[in-house]
Amino acid sequence: MKPAPFSYKKARSLDEAVALLAEKDARLLAGGQSLIATLNMRLSSPSLLIDINGLAGLDGISIKSGAVEIGCLTRHAQAERSDVIARHAPLIARAIPHIGHPAIRNRGTLGGSIAFADPAAELPACLLALDGEIDTMGPKGKRTIKAQDFFKGLFETALGPQDVLTAIRVPSANKDTRIGFAELARRHGDYAIVGLAASARRNGKGLADVRLAYFGVGNTPVRARKAEAALADGSIDAAVGALDLAPNDDVQATAATKKHLAGVLLRRVANQLLEAS
Ligand SMILES: Cc1cc2nc3c(=O)[nH]c(=O)nc-3n(C[C@H](O)[C@H](O)[C@H](O)COP(=O)(O)OP(=O)(O)OC[C@H]3O[C@@H](n4cnc5c(N)ncnc54)[C@H](O)[C@@H]3O)c2cc1C
Repeated sequence: MKPAPFSYKKARSLDEAVALLAEKDARLLAGGQSLIATLNMRLSSPSLLIDINGLAGLDGISIKSGAVEIGCLTRHAQAERSDVIARHAPLIARAIPHIGHPAIRNRGTLGGSIAFADPAAELPACLLALDGEIDTMGPKGKRTIKAQDFFKGLFETALGPQDVLTAIRVPSANKDTRIGFAELARRHGDYAIVGLAASARRNGKGLADVRLAYFGVGNTPVRARKAEAALADGSIDAAVGALDLAPNDDVQATAATKKHLAGVLLRRVANQLLEAS
């Protein structure tokens, strides 16, 4: 199938992109790896595509005030090869190879992945697990939104109709940072049936500040707070027993299967968090 007709404009500045978004049914085009598929299947039919790929200064990866800042146009492949991300944002480094396949990672952007907010995507869950932030630019200027306030519902975020997501930020890892990541997918590179991104702080032989963010089990990435508390108390069995997720059946698996797999992943990720702790 071919997309419905649309107009195309290449934005020459961030301000111009924001202004162009005022047009009814306008949509930003970043890597196109999700958007073009929805167009081709006629799941969406925007009147105008605003190409932001040429905008300078939106693809940087840097350390600022103890945080790793990643520009929205950073490609997954660029992040995958980044020493800064490997050293200072190891959870993101661990998750990215699970996103699609090399061709998709060559074009897809981190900003597009967060803005699209697919409930089975890796990066929204990583951002939630790391207590990250999202920077946006809109008609009223800049905003910074905490990850926990950003993901509102199925493919629904705190972005307004004229907002451009400009960067994401996560606290830089230090010697006490522990991270864990695992997902179950039918084939490597497929969207996960269930996945888990986690962070914690080493606390003696145990863990503190445990954050478990599941994906593929709800309309948004979901924290398992009771399991977090049980894991901080030192028991993996109790954490699995405390999992209070409520997934729905979907095309990949039944709710019961997803709940079972969530427990399997929790054991794997808990062991990663506790490794060399
Ligand atoms: C076969 C296949 C397998 C895939 N597997 C996975 C997977 O396993 N895990 C995964 O996470 N993803 C997967 N993806 C999707 C991929 O990660 C995309 O790169 C990502 O979801 C969207 O990024 P993009 O830059 O391509 O965004 P686009 O497709 O260009 O845009 C997606 C949406 O976000 C909006 N948008 C883009 N950038 C911004 C911005 N800066 N500000 C505001 N809105 C913006 C667009 O308007 C659009 O609505 C897969 C894609 C394909 C085709």
